[in-house]
Amino acid sequence: MSRTGAADSPMKPDPRFPFPHSPTPTRCQTNPTFFDFARGDRTGPTRAAAEKQLERARQACSGCPIVKDCLRWALVNKPLTKVGIYAATTPGQRTELRKRMAERLGPDWIDVLAAQDQARRERAAAARHTPLTVSQTRIVRLDVEVNGPMRLPLSPAEQQRNLARLMAGLKAA
Ligand code: SF4
Repeated sequence: MSRTGAADSPMKPDPRFPFPHSPTPTRCQTNPTFFDFARGDRTGPTRAAAEKQLERARQACSGCPIVKDCLRWALVNKPLTKVGIYAATTPGQRTELRKRMAERLGPDWIDVLAAQDQARRERAAAARHTPLTVSQTRIVRLDVEVNGPMRLPLSPAEQQRNLARLMAGLKAA
């Protein structure tokens, strides 16, 4: 079964929290057996081997580019992360972290996180559509006046020349 509830898994992750994208394959994708770990693996005759495996997985996670988002994903997707190492945490440690999240944000802490994410996305979208300020509009107009309509791509020399003309125009204005 996939560790992240991918297409081949009968269990699906919370759609509000997709598994984070990694720019490179993660160690749990290339070496999944390092990350197999169930509650109780550190007891009995295999304890030493389990500790060694746990240490290797923790080291791998500490260098992972998505460790922070992986932990968040593992905490909100409890049914998918009952076993295994995620973001250097054991199942027992994640249970403790979930308790702390509930103490901090309330019993509906997952919904609170989802609402925070949604608000962040809306703020980012609004920022992308914020109209130019009066002074920014003036600069854009002046650029067209002194350099003519934008033609792309510009060579580095053309960029320098246009910038010099724009600065001269701003000084003169
Ligand atoms: S941090 Fe998460 S994604 Fe990265 S190696 Fe560890 S378990 Fe895999």
